[in-house]
Amino acid sequence: MTDDDAATRKMQFVFSLRSRGVLDERVLAAMERIDRGLFITGAFEKRAYDDMPLPIACGQTISQPSVVAQMTKALEVGSRDTILEIGTGSGYQAAILSQLARRVYTIDRHRRLTEEAQRRFQALDLSNVTVFCGDGSRGLPAQAPFDRILVTAAAEDPPGPLLEQLQIGGIMVVPVGQSDAVQRLIKVRRTEDGYDYEELSEVRFVPLIDGMPLE
Ligand code: SAH
Repeated sequence: MTDDDAATRKMQFVFSLRSRGVLDERVLAAMERIDRGLFITGAFEKRAYDDMPLPIACGQTISQPSVVAQMTKALEVGSRDTILEIGTGSGYQAAILSQLARRVYTIDRHRRLTEEAQRRFQALDLSNVTVFCGDGSRGLPAQAPFDRILVTAAAEDPPGPLLEQLQIGGIMVVPVGQSDAVQRLIKVRRTEDGYDYEELSEVRFVPLIDGMPLE
């Protein structure tokens, strides 16, 4: 592909995000910089710039770009923030967050996915992202508290350890609901004396699974 093709493709990608209602300039700029094509391999590579979720290894999916944009915007990321993402998957969402925050920790239960994501972060020189393999529903107590937490797999309820690891004043965005039903994207704000919940939209994510990491 020539540089001109790549530039045109990028413009089309950002244009289609705008036409789907993504208007936040910081989010659009981050999504313009990070090439989604680098996070998808094999048969679906040519669909990388379409606004649809796509299969990745280990039976998981990379989220739809407009949903990535919506979650990123809802997180209200500041440049000094430390973020925890649960569900590294391809690493795409973490790479977008790395453009907006000071530091990003991301965790997945599939070792293969964390290794592939790690290689992508290195290739892109994203030195502020750290990847872990483990059960993300327990969070990362050693690095807590977090200014922002993004869960990219659906939980029946926001996991207790994640609520605890959210900084006061912090925001968590999490899809909530049964995996085979429509889920709701929830925005949680931790206040001095509790948590405020706001419902954002209906979404569909793969389930958050408790338990040991997998190879
Ligand atoms: N954010 C990803 C897409 C995530 S798909 C991207 O940008 O590509 C959801 C991911 O959550 C899957 O990779 C799955 O392995 C992971 N997952 C599910 N339950 C988990 C758990 N308890 N801990 C960590 N990761 C989990």
